Amino acid sequence: MIYPWFTLLFSQLMSRLHKRTLHHALLLSGPAGLGKQDFAYALAESILCKTPGKTGACGLCQSCHLFAAGNHPDFHLLTSEKQLGVDKIREGIGKLASTAQLGNNKVVVMPQAETMTEAAANALLKTLEEPTRNTYLLLLTSRLNGLLPTILSRCEKHMLSLPGKSELQSWLAGEGFPHVTERYLGAYGYSPLTIKASLAEKGEKLTYDEFEQALADLKNGDVRCSALAGKWQDDAAQVVTWLQAEAHQAFLKSSASADYQRAMRCMEAKQRLAHAGVNKSVILTGILTVFSSQ
Ligand SMILES: [Zn+2]
Repeated sequence: MIYPWFTLLFSQLMSRLHKRTLHHALLLSGPAGLGKQDFAYALAESILCKTPGKTGACGLCQSCHLFAAGNHPDFHLLTSEKQLGVDKIREGIGKLASTAQLGNNKVVVMPQAETMTEAAANALLKTLEEPTRNTYLLLLTSRLNGLLPTILSRCEKHMLSLPGKSELQSWLAGEGFPHVTERYLGAYGYSPLTIKASLAEKGEKLTYDEFEQALADLKNGDVRCSALAGKWQDDAAQVVTWLQAEAHQAFLKSSASADYQRAMRCMEAKQRLAHAGVNKSVILTGILTVFSSQ
């Protein structure tokens, strides 16, 4: 599936695949929650497909079946929890040395390319400079400045940006979430997959809408700080992030020192919450008290 904000780029890359002018090393950068990995998978599937169409993989050939089953011998995912070390990169490159098992192309996807260590990046350089035949590398990152300039200069770079408000709203509507407000989109940084996940989790996890309503109730005196703090313990860090954003926005408009102080208090609370074993309810009660008396 190709997200609507990717369709133009996808069709451009498909067209080049058909003309055999697709660059062997693509670097896709863009904010987290955009769906870069889904995009890379769809592209990889098309590159590996034996009879790709204009809009992507055929879905019917042996390659497509293997890909769908997560068993494609010429598809390699290079990922790591924290750092992508040199051994992992060498192992990945090693798999590219031989010809494709299905006799077509080989694809490597690196979802968090910025986690490569310097040694790992250097090990990858040679492959980027002199790729083995029929090999494609798809590097993804949400932190472009985390990559070495030598890597950057050897890739064809595509900067992906967040979809606009109406595109995002119509996509969400199609996913079963109509009427999502602009404030809600803003609270999750317009990040499509993050917004969708938060809407899907509704009921289990605190959402921005619920937070906003409860905060209004708090300011009206309809609910007590300690009651809210108890209810929101598991979402303490998120609550403080939202409060901080609110204080920050208010300060930009008012330049009032009270708003600045509130934002600073949020920052302190966040730092305290980061420690294990702290009483989150107590910290939240303290910070909510600051906001209840606005
Ligand atoms: Zn196919």
